[in-house]
This record gives sequence, structure tokens and C-alpha cells, in this order.
Amino acid sequence: MAQSFDRPITFPDIPGYQTLKVDLHMHTVFSDGSVWPDIRVREAVRDGLDAIAMTDHIEYQPHEADIPHPDRNRSYEIAVELAARLDSNLMVIRGSEITRSMPPGHSNAVFLDDVNPMIQDEPLDVFREAARQNAFTFWNHPMWLGQRKDGVAVLTDMHRDLIAQGLLQGIEVVNMHDYSAEALQIALDNDLTIIGTSDIHSLIQWEFEHDHNGHRPITLVFTTDRSQEGLHRALMAGRTVVWFRNMLVGRDEYLVPLIESSLTLESAAYAGERSVLEIVVHNASDVNYILRSESGYTFHQNSDVVMVKPNGNTTLHLKTLEQLEEVVIPFTVLNAVNAPDRHPVFVLDVAVN
Ligand SMILES: [Zn+2]
Ligand SMILES: [Zn+2]
Repeated sequence: MAQSFDRPITFPDIPGYQTLKVDLHMHTVFSDGSVWPDIRVREAVRDGLDAIAMTDHIEYQPHEADIPHPDRNRSYEIAVELAARLDSNLMVIRGSEITRSMPPGHSNAVFLDDVNPMIQDEPLDVFREAARQNAFTFWNHPMWLGQRKDGVAVLTDMHRDLIAQGLLQGIEVVNMHDYSAEALQIALDNDLTIIGTSDIHSLIQWEFEHDHNGHRPITLVFTTDRSQEGLHRALMAGRTVVWFRNMLVGRDEYLVPLIESSLTLESAAYAGERSVLEIVVHNASDVNYILRSESGYTFHQNSDVVMVKPNGNTTLHLKTLEQLEEVVIPFTVLNAVNAPDRHPVFVLDVAVN
């Protein structure tokens, strides 16, 4: 039987902004990845992404003997040419991974004009060159076990300097299979943009799908227009939420509108004289929302924790003890975080039909 691998990731827009689905970290044979750049484009089209950045390592070139490429822009050029030919809406962004030992470790610079001048001896000079090209630069996998045996992201003096000089604007809170509460705290403390990426080297299908419904980690970016300039502005302004496994990570400012745009009231009614309110909630996103009711009322079919399934309707039966015209139900969103171990509140305002 033929099998379709298309499974676009789905999220609604939020008031005032379009929601763009973006993966800003990936590798090809032009550094230590296993695939030609066309595969990255085709994977992104299947996932329904709006933008990807080609970020091959500058300093780490294990395939150089087999694939010599003095021009470090090649993976981007091949990808952008294919994306145009496929007539997809995918934007391809020119980037590179600055690949150093700690500190500063690895960082991605995206929206570059030319990758070649990024070849520098001193790490600081690479960051300065990225800034000269008006790049958006973020710290990669600060929790990586290859550079942190305890898996704990720690801000170093060099990172403090980079931030103070305006040379570092974001941080990966999610990289491939890892989430870092400490990196999230660093983002909040230093006003850095919250980023999540696949850092894919092999194939998306292999790496993220072994349990069904798997998906790559992405960054949702809230833009005023669908262009590279709009995306760049939004990233610089920190307008992001990360989507990782079944978890959302972000600042309340964007997280709460995203949840509110995802979950809407479909209907609410009482059957006859009964005082059990049948509430139908529609979910227009890929998130399987895990909500804890803080209303004080109990449900007829659930404990205080309810799941609202993705891309469809879920019915809840709330025992309101008498027939009401309106009920306000505050929910703690357990599978969203706005700070380490802290969850946003979503208020469902239920007007009875
Ligand atoms: Zn890296
Ligand atoms: Zn990487």
C-alpha cells in the first residue's frame, strides 16, 4: 500500500501576527550531515515548514576530501535553487554554525549575506563578522553532553560579553532530543530569543518519528509579514514559541495567545433539566493539550486533568450544580512552560447556548 509521508505541522495564527513554522539548524554533506541539501528542502516541504536555515559547520568539515567546496555558500545555494523550482512557499535562509570548544561552544548565525568571511581565527571575530552582516545569532545546544557532562546550561563570561556587545540574540532551549530548563532561565534573564531546532544530521523521518506522531522540534515565529525581513525582525524581537514533542515553551506574551487561538469553544449546552454542562472545545493545533481545571467544579467523566486532542473536538462534562448562563474555567496548561517548571493559565469563557 502506498504511504503518504506528508504531515504538515499545524498551528493557528495569533492576533496581530502570522505564525511561521521554522527550523534554523540543520546539516548536509557540506559539513557532517549525511544528505545532499535537496533532502533538507523536501523534508521541510513535507513538514509544512515556512522557513529553514542551512547551517553547516564552518570549522568542521569531515567530508572535505570527498566533497571539496571552497565556497561555503554551496549548501544554501543548492537548497534555495530547489525550493524555487518546487514552487513551494518554503523560505531558505543562509546560515552557518560557528563551531568552537567551550566557551563559546557552538552558535548559529542566520540571515548571512556570505558565509566565506565567517572563516576567522578568533571566535570573537566570527561573531563580529556575523553582526557586520546583520545576522541573527544564537547559542546552540548549551546543554549538550559533548560539552557539558552534567547537561546543565551555564552562562559563561564570554557569553555575557557577547550579549553585552549585541553579538548574541538567542539561545536554543531545545536541540534535537533535549530540552533545557536552565537554558530557558538564561533566555529569560538575558532577554534572549527562545529557540528550538532539529539540528538534523541524518533524516527527519528516522530521527523524530519512531513513535508515531513524532515531529521535529521547531520554532514558531510570530511575524507581521511572510518574508525573510519579517522573520528576521520577529526573531530579533523575541517573538517565538518552541514546539518540542508534546510541549510548548515560550514567554506568556506569545504562549497564551497561541493557546487561546488553538482552543476555542465550539458549543456548550445542558441536556433538559440536568445541570451537567456539555462543553465542546475545538483544538486547531497539533498539541495534545493537557489541562488542569482550577474552576472548583468537578467533571462527570474526568479528574481535574483533561486532555484536548489535536485538530478536532473534545467534549467535557462539567457539573455546575445548577444551570448557568456563563461559566469561566481557568486551566493550568501542564504541557506548556513559560519558565522552568512554571505553566501558563488559559481561561475558557463558556457562554451557554
Ligand atoms: Zn553544534
Ligand atoms: Zn549543528
